[in-house]
Amino acid sequence: MSAVEVRALPGRGRGLVTTRQVEAGEAVLVEEPLLLTVSQEAKDNACAHCLCWLERCTGAVRCQACHQAAFCSPQCQQQAAAKPWVHADATCRAYAQLPLLLPGDAEGQASLRFLIQAAGLKHSSGAANSSSAASSCSVGGHEQLSGYAALMALVGEPSPAVMAQAAVLQPALCQALGDASCSVLSVQEAASLLAKEAANSFGLLAPLGQQGSGDGTAAGGDAGARVLRGGALYPTCALLNHECLPNVARFDALDAAVDGRWPAQWPGQPAAHGSSSSSAGHASSTAVVMRALHALPPGSEVTLSYFPLHWELRERQAQAQQVYGFTCGCPRCQLEASPEWQQQADDDEDDGSGWETDDGGEDSEAAAGDAADAAGSSSDHDMEESEHQQQLQLQQLRAAIRAAAVTAAAAAAAASGTPLQPPEPLDASYLSLFMLKYVCPVQGCFGTMAALRGSNACECSVCGALRSEAEFLAGLEQQG
Ligand SMILES: [Zn+2]
Ligand SMILES: [Zn+2]
Ligand SMILES: [Zn+2]
Ligand SMILES: [Zn+2]
Repeated sequence: MSAVEVRALPGRGRGLVTTRQVEAGEAVLVEEPLLLTVSQEAKDNACAHCLCWLERCTGAVRCQACHQAAFCSPQCQQQAAAKPWVHADATCRAYAQLPLLLPGDAEGQASLRFLIQAAGLKHSSGAANSSSAASSCSVGGHEQLSGYAALMALVGEPSPAVMAQAAVLQPALCQALGDASCSVLSVQEAASLLAKEAANSFGLLAPLGQQGSGDGTAAGGDAGARVLRGGALYPTCALLNHECLPNVARFDALDAAVDGRWPAQWPGQPAAHGSSSSSAGHASSTAVVMRALHALPPGSEVTLSYFPLHWELRERQAQAQQVYGFTCGCPRCQLEASPEWQQQADDDEDDGSGWETDDGGEDSEAAAGDAADAAGSSSDHDMEESEHQQQLQLQQLRAAIRAAAVTAAAAAAAASGTPLQPPEPLDASYLSLFMLKYVCPVQGCFGTMAALRGSNACECSVCGALRSEAEFLAGLEQQG
């Protein structure tokens, strides 16, 4: 039985809700992509078919016909050539036109690249009515669509700006495809597609330390800036609503088949990588897995953070509004917008403020077993004060750990299909604990730590770092 089903949620549109008790670390959703698009800035560095990072491959090849795509291997190139929504002949010929039609317009070229792929998907969905392009993911409660229909069923309405963009791109698309009657996609359809992509696409980032720009030692938030290698649409995962304290993390395996480092407990590692079709129980290297951070009782809404957990309130609110068109009113946002919290944040300003210092620093060093001392930039006086603060924080954390254990037990006991809980006011010490536990302790990573099924360890969704519960608690103790 599927762990989740689609439900209409009051005030939240559709969402995914657990149908039964979910174990900590369980894969709640495993889904193959409907469409993968390499980003404009990574088109020479990532495989246009499987998005793996080419630096890590030995047999990378470039398309000599369009010069707009590269592949990790001749096999990947062959597979791409068989798919009109990736790199079949017509697609390749259209790509060759990109720099001619939109010279110097990187953003326009990226959008046109996506429209060319979407047109390919439409063409193949209509022609063969084949399910080969369909995303394979089965959840209850909604109609399973495949191919282009699944794409058009995603949410996202074009703004006037997107309509204007589509009016420019649609004739370019027709020209690129040699479509004299210009009937492949209407302007309205192109605008819808662009809006749906913007609202639902999962950004896929290049691996840490592999982006070939600078020395990667930038301080603070800049250390987390990584090249976007591409985007992908996963129609069922797109139904996950956002929460700033989520209960699942997204794992991908884009480089796994190349460097052999699959995320732990990846569902059935396929023999050959780059294959976007997967047999039952096997997820390809381009699939995503949504893993439960902790145990979830039945009837819980499954939520994902659309942004890195350590982002500050202002950053999160701006992104939610600009990219997704909603205002986040989750318990964490409510707490962080409160005058008390704001005051606290002002007081902490000298320390660099926010989570990046709190958990990216000392805790990570301790947890990683690294004896090196975290670079402390404060004066002795500040140091005493912050040590005192830390003592207080630690006391709160110990209390919160006990409270969390009690809450988990209560939740497990009450796990009888009860309806969704209304968000309760969030407690500051719980938030601190959550961040310490679920933000990756490796400096500059900012991935999310999710439980590993059947163990008390957590694994980072970005760098793969592992940490046992004992190491986590020891890290907290060392701070005291
Ligand atoms: Zn590839
Ligand atoms: Zn080509
Ligand atoms: Zn929020
Ligand atoms: Zn990490």
